[in-house]
Amino acid sequence: MSSHAFDTAGLDRCPFMPVFGAPAVMFERGSGTELFDSNGKRYLDFLSGIAVVSLGHANPVIAAAVTEQMNRLVHVSNFFANDAATSAAVAVNTLLREATGASGQVFFCNSGAEANEAAIKLARKFGGRGRHVVVSALGSFHGRTLAALAATGQPAKHEPFQPMPDGFRHVPFGDLDALRATLDSSCAAVLIETVQGEGGVIPASSEYLRGIRQLCDERGMLMMIDEVQTGFARTGEWFGFQHAGVVPDVVTMAKAMGNGFPVGACWARTEVAAVFQPGDHGSTYSGTAIAGAAVNAVISEMRRLDAPAMARTKGDHLASALEGLDGVVAVRGQGLLRAADLGARDAKAVYLEMLSRGVVTNAVNANSLRLAPPLTVSIAEIDEMVSVLAAVLADGIGVPS
Ligand SMILES: *Cc1c(COP(=O)(O)O)cnc(C)c1O
Repeated sequence: MSSHAFDTAGLDRCPFMPVFGAPAVMFERGSGTELFDSNGKRYLDFLSGIAVVSLGHANPVIAAAVTEQMNRLVHVSNFFANDAATSAAVAVNTLLREATGASGQVFFCNSGAEANEAAIKLARKFGGRGRHVVVSALGSFHGRTLAALAATGQPAKHEPFQPMPDGFRHVPFGDLDALRATLDSSCAAVLIETVQGEGGVIPASSEYLRGIRQLCDERGMLMMIDEVQTGFARTGEWFGFQHAGVVPDVVTMAKAMGNGFPVGACWARTEVAAVFQPGDHGSTYSGTAIAGAAVNAVISEMRRLDAPAMARTKGDHLASALEGLDGVVAVRGQGLLRAADLGARDAKAVYLEMLSRGVVTNAVNANSLRLAPPLTVSIAEIDEMVSVLAAVLADGIGVPS
């Protein structure tokens, strides 16, 4: 058996920079929840490319929309407008107005990290000189570019790249007193996830999120929510903050927004967005027609399917099925963003065995398995995944020796 997937492509070594571990499988095609590797083996995908292909692999509606746009108009630069990105911006602003009651404006970019970069620059300009600090949580994940990495509350990820950009501070997640204690006149914004995704699928309590809103109001600071993983219906609401009934000033999004077409966005209330002037920020690829087509197709398809309801119903089914398993000590998360806590078991061993039995999951930390299937997953596919997990756990996989 080869130790990596690249010799199936006739390569004797990895052609990519070694920033990712050796991949175990080479995938060739997908359809809905299913993936097929280069040997034709079928898998059920309970990761969705990390909460990205929420409408399923090779979704025909999204494929048709992107293909049609590709054949009509792809990109014209921001010296000009294009109809696809304009309607996508209106669609995003409408979603956010429905979720917040506020009118706002959007900046399109290509990834979650870039969406957070835009939010951080917006916070700095909003705060003004000397009032530029962005406070975020320990265990958070906000991306890999330098400022997004500095906001990420994982010191081990900072270490090889010191010095980090200035102006970031971290507090324990869920601890309102710690946040209150750290806020001073140099702070411009709080940046927070409603569920820490990469951090292990750890939901923030509604009280915590409401407390952050109140602190930000008291001090004239921005509440910025990173919905890159939780947004676009993943948790059972369009955005995670809706569970807590809080209204953020700034929302960042990406992952599911293009169903795999790379696109992200930073949205802000109009009064906040107004601090940006022409020249303050940009990207060659901001608001391309082709990304606009992907976003339009995703939003209209998610509305047609009532994606939040799909995530709620099927997420409840998944959670109760997991709770009934021997070997699962707790289930965390919301909607179809879940983690099964496997107690003392090694989640990586369970993940690898699941993979060999044809189910893609993710060992999000040492003892937890993350499950984030497409929102279009069927109840039968959930039951199939759960029975594979039950068998893997019954076989004692991952139990410490
Ligand atoms: C994935 C993720 C990011 C980074 O997104 P990229 O597209 O990888 O840059 C940022 N924030 C959260 C919450 C994420 O889950």
